[in-house]
Amino acid sequence: MFYAGQIVEQADVVELFTHTAHPYTQGLLRAVTSLGGANRKLYTIPGIVPPGGQWLSGCRFADRCDRCTERCRKEMPELSEISPGHLCRCFLHSGEVET
Ligand code: SF4
Repeated sequence: MFYAGQIVEQADVVELFTHTAHPYTQGLLRAVTSLGGANRKLYTIPGIVPPGGQWLSGCRFADRCDRCTERCRKEMPELSEISPGHLCRCFLHSGEVET
């Protein structure tokens, strides 16, 4: 999964759908699954992707993330392995942001 020019999550399809880790991926899947809901109201991730070259200094998804902290705005999370073969770029999975 790419966001704002970076890999934010990478895993095989089954792992990605069953153990979705990054808030952006979670938002995308929530949007897709909302299409089949009884009320048919489409979920959308608030905000827009920042224009190329105008990235935030911290996490590029920070302005749109409902779990963002001060640290997220200051530091760029690394893409790290959270389980075998499953990579995620988010402080939530390094135990550095309250879940
Ligand atoms: S690092 Fe912070 S802002 Fe970025 S996706 Fe994770 S919780 Fe959200």
